[in-house]
Amino acid sequence: MSKLKSHRLPTTVRPERYSLTLAPDLSNWTFTGEETISVNVQEPVREIVLNAAELELHAVSLRLADGKVLHGNPGVDSENEQATLGFAETVPAGGHELQIKFSGILNDKLHGFYRSTYKDANGQEKRLASTQFESTDARRAFPCWDEPAFKAVYQVTLVVDEKLTAISNARVVREAALPESGKKSVVFADTIKMSTYLVAFIVGEFEATEPVLAGAAPLRVCAVPGKKQLAGFAVDIGKASLEHFSRYYDIPYPGDKLDLIAIPDFASGAMENLGAITFRETALLVDRDKATRTELERVADVVSHENAHMWFGDLVTMQWWNGLWLNEAFATFMEMLAVDAWKPEWRRWDSFTVSRAAAMQVDGLKSTRPIEFPVERPEEAAGMFDVLTYEKGASVLRMLEQYLGAEAFRDGIRLYLRRHAYGNAETTDLWDALEDSTRQPARSLMDTWIFQPGYPLIGVEKDGKSIRLTQQIFRYLQDGSDKERKWHAPIFLRAGTPSGVVNKTLLLTEREQCIELDDTADWVVVNAGGHGFYRVRYSGELLEALKQGLQTRLSAVERFSLVNDTWAATLAGLTSLTDYLGLVKLLADEKDVNVWTTVIGSGHHLQRILDDGQCPVLDKHLRELFAPAVARLAWTPRKGESELESQLRGDLIGALGTVAEDKACQERARQLFTQYENATNSVDRNLVPALVAIVAHTGAAADYEKFYNKFKTAKTPQDETRYLFALANFRAPELIDRTLELTINGEVRTQNSPYLMRGILLNRHAREKAWTFMKSQWAEMLQQYPDNAIPRMCEGIIGLVEPALEADAREFFAQHPVKQGAKQMEQHLERLRVAVLSQQRWRHLLRS
Ligand SMILES: [Zn+2]
Repeated sequence: MSKLKSHRLPTTVRPERYSLTLAPDLSNWTFTGEETISVNVQEPVREIVLNAAELELHAVSLRLADGKVLHGNPGVDSENEQATLGFAETVPAGGHELQIKFSGILNDKLHGFYRSTYKDANGQEKRLASTQFESTDARRAFPCWDEPAFKAVYQVTLVVDEKLTAISNARVVREAALPESGKKSVVFADTIKMSTYLVAFIVGEFEATEPVLAGAAPLRVCAVPGKKQLAGFAVDIGKASLEHFSRYYDIPYPGDKLDLIAIPDFASGAMENLGAITFRETALLVDRDKATRTELERVADVVSHENAHMWFGDLVTMQWWNGLWLNEAFATFMEMLAVDAWKPEWRRWDSFTVSRAAAMQVDGLKSTRPIEFPVERPEEAAGMFDVLTYEKGASVLRMLEQYLGAEAFRDGIRLYLRRHAYGNAETTDLWDALEDSTRQPARSLMDTWIFQPGYPLIGVEKDGKSIRLTQQIFRYLQDGSDKERKWHAPIFLRAGTPSGVVNKTLLLTEREQCIELDDTADWVVVNAGGHGFYRVRYSGELLEALKQGLQTRLSAVERFSLVNDTWAATLAGLTSLTDYLGLVKLLADEKDVNVWTTVIGSGHHLQRILDDGQCPVLDKHLRELFAPAVARLAWTPRKGESELESQLRGDLIGALGTVAEDKACQERARQLFTQYENATNSVDRNLVPALVAIVAHTGAAADYEKFYNKFKTAKTPQDETRYLFALANFRAPELIDRTLELTINGEVRTQNSPYLMRGILLNRHAREKAWTFMKSQWAEMLQQYPDNAIPRMCEGIIGLVEPALEADAREFFAQHPVKQGAKQMEQHLERLRVAVLSQQRWRHLLRS
């Protein structure tokens, strides 16, 4: 028998049902609580160990099955966040009732049971309390077995001021006034058996939409007063996606109602508490008539993602935190499916290629990590909330789905959910269910993607009638290591031959494999459809054939992959910058927004690397790239054009006016912005972000003042963040100082400040000032900001593309390690290294 890890709870005592009463006091930011936990003691014990953090335990007793009551003595281990309840005599095996009275604080760190504030229509500050328990913060609200495998039923009662609304996971069974205290008690029904991290309590002034039925469950959107008119879009996608999932999973929604709740202060995007999903306001509330397509898509994505978790995550839960990736990857995958089904005209799987590319960017670093890794302490799982879990995880699931077939894959998911409903599962349980249902080797295939970091570069050559494929690891910085690594890569191949187009799907498992075709191919697309999580490098001859048929032989997604893979190869030094720019020049007629996203992204990247204010050649080059495309699309929407087209217009104009410094474009954008201010309906909504970006980029003090006021008085969460984050793009030193000050002076919510700071670091005119400021305010920032935001804020250091700044950043973070994101910090620094090396390689090119 090995010694139990001190931070893990013994399994000799298991909770079955919590009956929990909490009374939050919003005026003092504290709460008191009382709980009765039905426990199952499996063998006689002298003490009961459970989790508690920042709680005071006042009275503990245990009512035994035979009615005898034992008084308990609580001892607290604050390092391991545990309470040990000692009893004067041995507790026999059996079912007993544990009673604990306790009190705690509503903290300001956006985790556990925490405080949030907002101003009402009269400018009065209002208070509310909400919860965020994932991963291990339920223990800050009530003593509990705070590990995902200790599933139990929760019956919650909230004692709150008469005029406040209380929300929890299940429906309200009754409300009773408590006249002597001026309060009321709100009693909720029993939940399903679930993990502590999914429990939620929300207390404050809330308005809710009229319930609509999603299947059998009433669904509402809740927000602080004055915002209900922004809820309609979320109601629609909430209902549509919940119904979509109950069909896909072939299991009804497991809760008895569903509230989607916007919380003014929120550390992440949203949290999948069963029946009471919490969101940051931008991810839920939106003006469907004024918001851009991407802003609407974000709400649709996040709502669908959280709804997908109601089954995958809530009904079936990971056994331990190493399985967190699957929970998130799967919800991300399902979010695409639901949004794609709801709005096919958005071509959501096409735009997912942009997310896949973002994951490939990080995963091409030596400092990447495998998707799944052993997690001892739950804090180690904090590093899993990143692009590798969500986007790479979802990408490899999509690749698997496409390889197995969508229906076969879905059947495997259904089997998995049925097998493990109300219980916990390991990653391998999913592969087992998929293998049982499809008779295909899902596990050996997925193991190569899940447990190995990185991905392959697939080489493609023609040899007579056969196509030779090779694989080797892709890295931006090549040091010859890990060359032996191999993946089981599903290859989706399409070839043009004299006798027609041929499609083939196969599994590349060896370092080198040949595919025999019946005829000699004129051209070949490997990774047809773009589902593979790998890059492709064609021989010169095959690349030429694709370049000649960019618009005819390749789909939009495939053009995206070609451009993106070539850009990655350029950064890795495998392709010359001249060759990349030559390829991009061929896109003059390109109409696809995602292809342009990757081109524009590389333009920003080039500018960060090369523009020190003396690089007119680069500006000119970028102008020549974007100006004809803008001219072709024109500035005003065509009748009947798609939303993706109008989004593309906005993206291109934004790029032409900022990164390419086109004076005429800047002037016109300023005029249009004035017109927009006078009559918001006179400008296409998808153009607005570009106008705002250009006005900020070229703006002076008066513009700054205007944007600042618009941020302060915005009527929608989207407008608020749009003008707030635009403040990071002004260039005048005194305006940069003002924005820097905003990051710590309390005017900006701590949920947004770190991202504002990241934006300033990425502004090449502000980066040195921003870096100096961040170093000097580091302790203050750590103290103010939510923990999970620190490594994300630090992503801004990839903008410090100068050898001296890079060296300084390395030294600073060596002395100030970011504990909650060590891996991400290594990745930011490596991305910066790649950029500095590229600068050394390219600078002379554009000076000549
Ligand atoms: Zn999620």
